[in-house]
Amino acid sequence: MLGFKVLPVSPELCEQVRSSLKAPQYGHPAHAEPAAGYGPCRSCLRQFHVGCDRRLLFTYNPFAGIDPYPSPGPIFIHENACQPFDQVSTFPPELRSLPLTFEGYGLERWFVARERPTDSDIEAAIARLFANPDVDYIHVRNTRRAVLWPTLHDWTQGAGDRHSISCGIFRCD
Ligand SMILES: [Zn+2]
Repeated sequence: MLGFKVLPVSPELCEQVRSSLKAPQYGHPAHAEPAAGYGPCRSCLRQFHVGCDRRLLFTYNPFAGIDPYPSPGPIFIHENACQPFDQVSTFPPELRSLPLTFEGYGLERWFVARERPTDSDIEAAIARLFANPDVDYIHVRNTRRAVLWPTLHDWTQGAGDRHSISCGIFRCD
């Protein structure tokens, strides 16, 4: 049985952003806006309802606590409190239909392997990556939107949903 654990951005960090309107790791202002794209929200790992939901954009380093070498990128969460994703042994249902790239990283954040699974191949792709003993964790990216890190100006000027990483998947023994 494949064991994995899907981790969204921590509820504590999301609450800090909502209450301070700043990126907790960096102090940059967070940007509030109506959802112009589907996201996803990095807390509940659901897609935004374009034009209906409101969201916050802020700078986040997904490697905090994993590796000292930071790679900050822009991410979105719902502006108001949402239910943090807690079905951690399940791949988030609302991410399944997106164009996904799984990046497997190992010690000292060394990039080891990549998979681009379709919906029906997601669990098998996770298993293939974790079958490699050098892979410690997987970052899930949106294939079409994982572009070069935009500048802060771009993030707040309609850059849409350019975001770095949707969630992390970790081994679970
Ligand atoms: Zn949410």
